[in-house]
Amino acid sequence: HPTLSKALLVVTVSGGGLLAYADANSSNGAQIINSSEADTKKKKVVVLGTGWAGTTFLRNLKSPSYEVQVVSPRNYFAFTPLLPSVTCGTVEGRSIVEPIRNIVRKKKVDVQFCEAECIKIDAENKKVYCRSSVNNNLNGKEEFIVDYDYLIISVGANVNTFNTPGVMENCHFLKEVEDAQKIRRTVIDCFEKASLPTTSDEEKKRILHFAVVGGGPTGVEFAAELHDFVNEDLVKLYPGLKDLVKITLLEAGDHILNMFDKRITAFAEEKFRRGGIDLKTGSMVVKVSDKEISTKELKNGGEISTIPYGMVLWSTGIGTRPVIKDFMKQIGQANRRALATDEWLRVEGCDNIYALGDCATINQRKVMEDISAIFSKADKDNSGTLTVKEFQEVIDDICERYPQVELYLKNKQMRNIVDLLKVPKGEVAKESLELNIEEFKSALSQVDSQMKNLPATAQVAAQQGVYLARCFNRMEECEQNPEGPLRFRGQGRHRFRPFRYKHLGQFAPLGGEETAAQLPGDWVSIGHSSQWLWYSVYASKQVSWRNRALVITDWARRFIFGRDSSQI
Ligand code: FAD
Repeated sequence: HPTLSKALLVVTVSGGGLLAYADANSSNGAQIINSSEADTKKKKVVVLGTGWAGTTFLRNLKSPSYEVQVVSPRNYFAFTPLLPSVTCGTVEGRSIVEPIRNIVRKKKVDVQFCEAECIKIDAENKKVYCRSSVNNNLNGKEEFIVDYDYLIISVGANVNTFNTPGVMENCHFLKEVEDAQKIRRTVIDCFEKASLPTTSDEEKKRILHFAVVGGGPTGVEFAAELHDFVNEDLVKLYPGLKDLVKITLLEAGDHILNMFDKRITAFAEEKFRRGGIDLKTGSMVVKVSDKEISTKELKNGGEISTIPYGMVLWSTGIGTRPVIKDFMKQIGQANRRALATDEWLRVEGCDNIYALGDCATINQRKVMEDISAIFSKADKDNSGTLTVKEFQEVIDDICERYPQVELYLKNKQMRNIVDLLKVPKGEVAKESLELNIEEFKSALSQVDSQMKNLPATAQVAAQQGVYLARCFNRMEECEQNPEGPLRFRGQGRHRFRPFRYKHLGQFAPLGGEETAAQLPGDWVSIGHSSQWLWYSVYASKQVSWRNRALVITDWARRFIFGRDSSQI
């Protein structure tokens, strides 16, 4: 690491496992920060990030046998599903954040927080290198090292620009509360600029053209919020500009909200078209300059066209943070979008490192490779088939390694697999019956992908945080009883059940007090009633009573007085 190579003096450890190092070239020379040897028996857990995954982990960690060091450039948790509402002032930024120190204050667990970003992970020496977010006037941003026994990586993801020229320089993003507040100021700015007597009509039209790139839930929700803001509030304040405002939603695919049920997609597209939002599907943005967006029309043989704009929001998915990219290179996971973990959320190829949330994916390929290897070993004569007895032995072996497969087979999937293999159920027990390995593997991989292709959502991150905290709460007990909990007793068994995601449904607010809700069992509801469901779910999901009260009063304020358009 370039900065580290310059470090002259590495100073010793405190109880919290913090090391500070000073730069030899700095004008102030090296300085000792602390020097007492760690004498605690508590295991040191370092948590990177205070987002959905990290905060849920901290909220659910109960065992006092850890000493936890949280490192994050943000000293608060932000309720991201309400970020689009912050862009138009429906909800205030401060209402959806809660200081992390407040969240951990009443816990019996020893939790310390450092406002810093992790810049490098050294898995070999169990250390993370950090740079403080606070600028110290004399030394610039301080750097320090934190050592760990267990590392929990939950740093989330970056925006993904697909290296499209001009995007970083000219587009807005919506990942953080500051982004949402900046968007709010820019929207009002556009209206004020367009109201100046010196602005030509042509220029007014350009300035009041708001473009949204990406038809996923965030882009759609922002377009809907902005449409409401303009039509319910701004038109009253800027009546002369009413007819000049335009909102365009650009999506490279054929449809928006393609992760939702087709009924929701169709309803949203129709609602947007009726409401005057210009929906351009099959339109891929190839370049963004300071005043124009260039798009490639995929339906018209790749024709390039340009659209003048006043403000553009880029919302096309997520990319990898540099620290994770660097770490993935170190551990032989380069060329992936996210850190590969097993189903216990342990980073593959590392000891005592866990990754969860948007920066991680459960490595499904690895499980299938292992399963394939078990089958190949059992298929001694290379015939591609096994007898039921052999087959059952293989299944036992797989279940031994992957308890989630056992759970699946035991619950309901065995019947599916048998159906898929087209084996009459009564015959499964026959000794002589031969089962086709390839068919079984493909059936299993279908089950597997349903189980592990997890979306990058707060719901997944939060469930992973709860799961990992529960594992950590029981870790000590399990170490004292290596046989494991009763449920999984037996040699070689894993101590904990693997992570299982439970999908609780998803919402897509579409503006005009209408929301689309897709709940488990493919239950779809669209309209005003779902909007009330959305209000209740999001109010109940707030991390504190303070947030809940603030968010509800913001909603009430908006109903009574409308949104605030002050430029502050
Ligand atoms: P994050 O919540 O992004 O947290 C990452 C944390 O890591 C942050 O605290 C960050 O400051 C910190 N960090 C970053 N870099 C470093 C570093 N180098 N060192 C240390 N810490 C670092 N999901 C839903 O389920 N439902 C929704 O309605 C929904 N709406 C969304 C709306 C918007 C506008 C956005 C942006 C996302 C939405 N999501 C939604 C997705 C959801 O927010 C993410 O999936 C979720 O935040 C992922 O959690 P995480 O903990 O992995 O990452």
